[in-house]
Amino acid sequence: MTHPLNDPAHVQNLLETIRSKTPRVLRIMEVCGTHTHAVSRYSFRQTLDGHIDFISGPGCPVCVTTQADIDKMIAYARIPDTITTTFGDMLRVPGTHSSLAKIKAEGADIRVVFSPLDALKIAVDNPARQVIFFGVGFETTVPVVAASLKHAMRQNTKNYSVLSLHKTVPEALHALFSNHHRIDGLLLPGHVAAVLGLEPFSFLPQLHRLPSVVTGFTPVEILHSVKLLTQMVQNNENKLINGYPRVVTQSGNPLARKEIVDVFYQSDAQWRGLGDIPNSGLRIRPDFSLWDAEQKFQPSLPDDTPSLTECCCGAIITGQMKPVACPLFKNICTPENPQGPCMVSGEGACAAYYQYDRHFLRKETADNHGK
Ligand code: SF4
Repeated sequence: MTHPLNDPAHVQNLLETIRSKTPRVLRIMEVCGTHTHAVSRYSFRQTLDGHIDFISGPGCPVCVTTQADIDKMIAYARIPDTITTTFGDMLRVPGTHSSLAKIKAEGADIRVVFSPLDALKIAVDNPARQVIFFGVGFETTVPVVAASLKHAMRQNTKNYSVLSLHKTVPEALHALFSNHHRIDGLLLPGHVAAVLGLEPFSFLPQLHRLPSVVTGFTPVEILHSVKLLTQMVQNNENKLINGYPRVVTQSGNPLARKEIVDVFYQSDAQWRGLGDIPNSGLRIRPDFSLWDAEQKFQPSLPDDTPSLTECCCGAIITGQMKPVACPLFKNICTPENPQGPCMVSGEGACAAYYQYDRHFLRKETADNHGK
C-alpha cells in the first residue's frame, strides 16, 4: 500500500490545487539544499512551470563555505603527521590553488567519515597522531560534533580536535532578506527547525513580511507547504506555519540545543555569497580549547584568497541566479569536473539541476539567463 506521504493521487491533487490557486508566478525559495534536490528529483520545477519559480537558497553547508575556509582546511590537512577527517562532499571543492582531494592524492592523510564520532575513534586508534575533524554544517550537525568533543574530554583523548566552521541558518536568512529581495515565500528546512523549534524563524514573516512554512522532505510534504505558501500569498498573509509537525515541535529539541551551547558560542562568520554575517558562526568555548584545532595548530594560511572569478555559486545560493545561467554550467563544470561547491555537493543547486533537470534546461536557460 502506498504511504500517504508519497501517495501519487495526493501529489496530483496538490499539484492541481497549486496550479489553480497561484495568482501569478510565485518565487518560492527552498532554503535547504535537500529541498533543492527533492524539488528537482520529483520534477516539480517542470510540473509547476508557469506557477512556481523555485529559487535555491543558502542552505547547503558545503556551498556556503568560503574559498578562504577551503584554503584553511587544506593548510590544516598539510600539517605533518596529522590525520584530517571530513565529510565526503568537502573533498573535491576547489580552493584557490588546490583541493583536499588533490593533496590527498599527493599523500596527505585525509579520511572521509560519516560522523565526528568516527573521527574520534580514529584518534583513539592512533594515539601517536593528531586527528582533526573539519566541522562544516548547520544546527543539525553541530550537536553530534559537540557530543564528540564532550566524549573526547571525558575520555581524555587529547589527540582529537575540531576545526569549527559551523554556521547558523536564521542569521543568514536575516542577512539575506535584509537587502532587497523578490521572494514570495520560503520553504524552511525541517531538520534545522527540528533542533531550533519555530521561534527562531518567526522574524521572517514579522520583520521581512515573508510567508514561511517549515517543510518536510517527501513529495506530499513539499507540495503541501507550497500550497500553504500559495494560499498565504493569495490571502495577503505573512505567517510562519509548521508544515512538518510529525517531526518539528514548537520548542524544537532542547537537549540538542543544550549540546550546542555547552560547547560552542556564537561568533561572526564569513559566508560564500553573503560575506561576513554577525553571530552566524559557532566557535569552540575556551573550556574545550584543548580540542579546538585553531587553538592547537597555527598552520600558515594564504594572505590573500583571490576568488574563483567564473564560479557563480555565491549568486546562486542567494537566489540571484539559476545554475543554468552560469557560463560554466554543463560545459566546463560537471559533477566529474566541478568548478565550485554547488556542483560538488550532494545538496548543491548546480548538481541538482545537472542530475535531474536536463530535459528542462533549454527552456530554463532561455528564461533565466542573466537573472
Ligand atoms: Fe560554480 Fe559550476 Fe555552479 Fe557555475 S555551474 S556556479 S562554476 S558550481
